Amino acid sequence: MQNEMFCFQCEQTAFGKGCTKIGVCGKTPEIAAMQDLLIYQLKGISCYATKLLDKGEKLDKSLVSFIENSLFMTLTNVNFDPEAHIDMLKKSQIVKDELRKKCGQTEVSGEEALYNLSDSKEQILVDAKKAGIMFNEELDADIRSVRETIKYGLKGIAAYAHQARFIQYNNDEVDEFYFMALASLTDDSLNLQDLIKLLLRTGEMSVKIMEVLDRANNERYSSPSPQKVNVNIKKGPFIVISGHDLRDLEMLLTQTEGKGVNIYTHGEMLPSHGYPKLNKYPHLVGNFGGAWQNQQKEFDGIPGCILMTTNCLMKPKDSYKDRIFSTSVVGWDGVQHIAAAEDGHKDFSEIINKALELGGFEKDEEVKEILVGFGHKATLSHAETIVNAVKEGKIKHFFLIGGCDGAKVGRNYYTEFAQLVPKDCIILTLACGKYRFNKLEFGEVAGLPRLLDIGQCNDAYSAVKIALALADAFKCGINDLPLAMVITWYEQKAVADLLALLSLGVKGIYLGPTLPAFLSPNVLQFLVDNFDIKPISTPEADLKQILG
Ligand code: SF4
Repeated sequence: MQNEMFCFQCEQTAFGKGCTKIGVCGKTPEIAAMQDLLIYQLKGISCYATKLLDKGEKLDKSLVSFIENSLFMTLTNVNFDPEAHIDMLKKSQIVKDELRKKCGQTEVSGEEALYNLSDSKEQILVDAKKAGIMFNEELDADIRSVRETIKYGLKGIAAYAHQARFIQYNNDEVDEFYFMALASLTDDSLNLQDLIKLLLRTGEMSVKIMEVLDRANNERYSSPSPQKVNVNIKKGPFIVISGHDLRDLEMLLTQTEGKGVNIYTHGEMLPSHGYPKLNKYPHLVGNFGGAWQNQQKEFDGIPGCILMTTNCLMKPKDSYKDRIFSTSVVGWDGVQHIAAAEDGHKDFSEIINKALELGGFEKDEEVKEILVGFGHKATLSHAETIVNAVKEGKIKHFFLIGGCDGAKVGRNYYTEFAQLVPKDCIILTLACGKYRFNKLEFGEVAGLPRLLDIGQCNDAYSAVKIALALADAFKCGINDLPLAMVITWYEQKAVADLLALLSLGVKGIYLGPTLPAFLSPNVLQFLVDNFDIKPISTPEADLKQILG
C-alpha cells in the first residue's frame, strides 16, 4: 500500500511545506501517486507531440482535450476516484503509443517519453515514485520551483480551456503551448533564465485563454448585467449547482423547466445570475451557501441534490453522499457521475428525479438579495461616471479583492480589509474569496454600488480589461492607476491568474494568505524584485501603505 506522497500545489498544503502522509484536501497517497504518473506521462507524450509539431504536422484536438482533461483532473479538489485515474493512465499509454508510431524513426529521448505504463496497478504505484516532485534530490531548488510553478499555471489554464472548449471555443496557440511547455519541463538543458521566460509565457497563455473564455461566455450567454440574487431559500424541491461550467447550468435549467425543481447556484457559479440567457429561467431562484470550504456543513442532510461541475469538491459526508453528483472531470469514489455524450449533452434525469423524491425545503425564508453582474461591459458602461468621480475626488481608490477562499483562520484578513476600505473607495471582487464579505452592506459612492462583483476567477481577464480602459481614460499605465490588487490564492487557477497579471506587467500585488510553498527563496526574491509582490501583513498596515 502506498503510504507516502509529496504535494505542495495548493495554499492549504500541510505546515505550509507539503502534504506527505495524506492531503489536507483528502487526496490519498495512492491518488497522489497516480496523478504524479499521469503528469509524467503527459510530459512524455508532449516530447513526441512537439517533434510532430516541429515537422509542421497538425495534432488532433482530441489529443489536446486528453492533455487538458488530465491536467484539470489533477487540480486541487477535482478528482479523488482511483478508477478514473487508472482509466486516464491507460488512455495515456494508448495516446503515447499512437504518437510514437507517428514519429517513426524520429529520435525522442527522455525517460518520460521512453517509459511504458504497466498493466498492473501495483507496478503503476511503484513506477509513480520516479514521477514524484522530490524524486531527483540533486535537482536545483530554483529549477524545481520554476518548473512546478509552470506546471501549476498549466493546470489552471487547462481548467479555463476545458470550460471554453465545452462551448466550442478554443485558442490554437494555447492548445500547442501545452505540448511545448510540458516537453520543456523534461529538458535539462534549460537554465533558470530559460525557465523564467517560459513562466512568463505561461502567463501570456493564461491571458489568452481567459480572453477566449470571456468571449465564449459573453457570446453564448450574452454579456452579464447587474442582477439581484436571493441568497436565502425557497420552498420546494431543488438542485444546488456548484463549480464554473455555465453550459452545465444551462442544460440543467432546460431539463428542469416546468418540473417544479428550483435551481440554486453555489460557490463560483454565483456570477452566472448576471448572464441574460441564464437568468431568464424563473426557476434559477438564488444562491445557496458560502464558499467551497463550508460545503460539508452546508450540505449536511440537505433535502435536495448537489451537482459538482468543476472544483472544489470535498469528501462528501454520509448524510449527503447519496444526493451529490459529479460531472465532467470531477469524481469521488462512490459518488454518482453524470457523463457527457459525444456531443456534450448530459442527461440529468437521475439527479432531477432524486431532487423530486427528496422533497426539498419546507418553507420560504425571507428574501435577502445581493448584486452580481459587473463584468467589463457592465462596469465600463459607467466609465464616464467613474472617471469624472475620480477626477472630482468623489472616488479615491479602487481595490480588487479577488481570488479563492479557503479554510484558514488568517483569511479573515479579507473580511476585515473590505470592511476597512474607506467609504469613498470602490471594491471590485472576483472568484469565491468574496464570500467572506459579499453579504455585508457597502452602500454606494458617486451613484455606484461600492462593491462591484466582476465574476468568476477566470474573469480576472474582465478586471484587466476594466483596468486597461481606465488607464486609457486617465492616460496612464495600469500601475499608475489608483488601484490596488489584493489577491487571495488557494489552487492552481489562481496561479494561472497571477502569472497572467505578471505577464501584463502588473506590479505591487498583495498576495496571501500565505505565499506558495513551491516558490523557492530565490524565485520569490525574483518576483519581489521584478514585480514588487508583497505578502499581506495586517489589513490596517496594508491599507495605510496603499493609501499613503
Ligand atoms: S492539493 Fe493541496 S491539500 Fe491536496 S495534497 Fe496537494 S498540497 Fe495537499
